[in-house]
Amino acid sequence: MVLTIIINRRSVSTVTTPRLLLLVLAVSAALVLTGCSASGSAASVGSADDLKVVATTTQIADLTRNVIGDTAGVEVTQLIQANQSAHSYDPSVADLTALGAADVLVINGVGLEEWLDDAIAASGFDGVTIDSDEGIAIQDGEAGHEARADEESGREDEATEDATGEEHDHDGGNPHIWTAVANAETMTATIAGGLAAASATHAAAFEANEAGYAAQLAALDGWIHENIDAVPAAQRLLVSNHDAFGYFTAAYGITYVGSVIPSFDDNAEPSAAEIDDLVAAISATGVKAVFSEASINPKAADTIATEAGVTVYSGDEALYGDSLGPAGSDGATYIASQLHNVSLILQSWGVTPSAVPADLQ
Ligand SMILES: [Zn+2]
Repeated sequence: MVLTIIINRRSVSTVTTPRLLLLVLAVSAALVLTGCSASGSAASVGSADDLKVVATTTQIADLTRNVIGDTAGVEVTQLIQANQSAHSYDPSVADLTALGAADVLVINGVGLEEWLDDAIAASGFDGVTIDSDEGIAIQDGEAGHEARADEESGREDEATEDATGEEHDHDGGNPHIWTAVANAETMTATIAGGLAAASATHAAAFEANEAGYAAQLAALDGWIHENIDAVPAAQRLLVSNHDAFGYFTAAYGITYVGSVIPSFDDNAEPSAAEIDDLVAAISATGVKAVFSEASINPKAADTIATEAGVTVYSGDEALYGDSLGPAGSDGATYIASQLHNVSLILQSWGVTPSAVPADLQ
């Protein structure tokens, strides 16, 4: 109880908005209740090897679960649920309570989780943060088509942790790093390394699971290349709902003709001039389809596809961009979402994909 009060006092002092203050008070109440009910039974606290992990996005949670596998005593709480926006997420009291109790927080990084600093302050989280963007070459600019390596960009001062352990800041860079499978492999290795460092007891299990999952991701990357590389480069064109696929298009030699919402942020609205420009670009390049995204209202994509006289892929045929799909859907896992997206993109080009490798089905 005393500990609870200290944590909350520190949190309150860093909170900036009335809404967060209310959340802090609600989290305090939840912690007090938890403390009271657990105080009678020491056994319910669990073993010292237990690890509480919180993961932010649907993709990061899936990569993290693949590293953890069935390791006993390690629990993952996923904050963002299927088809919720990762950019403008609004954490619940339950989210902040889980975060406050977590040993490890796994994030996407590159500024995707715009809400994270406030959530950390409100929850009192003081564990280890694993930033999945470590070692990834970040694309910059709203166009998002130019990849650049950290060492080429002259932003070493931003890319390094400072003495206080503050996370590096890629704000303004393209945060949709997971869309290239090679990046997902790097991210999974970073997550496994971070979790192994946080728990020596489970390190060997995490590393073995990571090796198995990396082999699946390599098979996925191979299947995507085999299919896309066979299509003439001039026909590899993509129009999506927002600028979420810059790393994907760069990795597989696809021309990103444009986006319905020409922004990294899925909350923006296209202007009339932007709609006209995209319709003109679709006509000029011979794009055959406009893809909506599962987590975004398809209305503007429908309008543009109709004006340009091309097919729109939406509903069950939308791409999984900022969010994976719910359990049981085509996009329930990262690997399944990539198989879904690539199959539909190939279909839009008039290509039938080759059989999916057996260990990915
Ligand atoms: Zn996005």
